[in-house]
Amino acid sequence: MPDLRRCIGSARFGIEAHEAPVEDFPVQPSQKDGLGRLCKTHWNQYTTALRKAAAAAKAEATTPADDATPPQPADPKTQRPKGKALEPVAESGEATAQ
Ligand SMILES: [Zn+2]
Repeated sequence: MPDLRRCIGSARFGIEAHEAPVEDFPVQPSQKDGLGRLCKTHWNQYTTALRKAAAAAKAEATTPADDATPPQPADPKTQRPKGKALEPVAESGEATAQ
């Protein structure tokens, strides 16, 4: 039987707590027992989520919330000369003869 250790997970980031083998935990000298409180996989998930959350919080503080979409590239169709739009629409389906 390998020694199992509790991975505490993170309710905040939807990481479920579970038991994992001790060797699945990263070494963290700052912890009392020298091991992380999350297994390596979840530690990576946790720190990634934490970074994203921090970046999102920072972005939200500096830009309007609805400014998330990048500016659209110019559509060439909208930049054609407007004179054409006034021509009568051909009804015979031969509109390609321009
Ligand atoms: Zn885990």
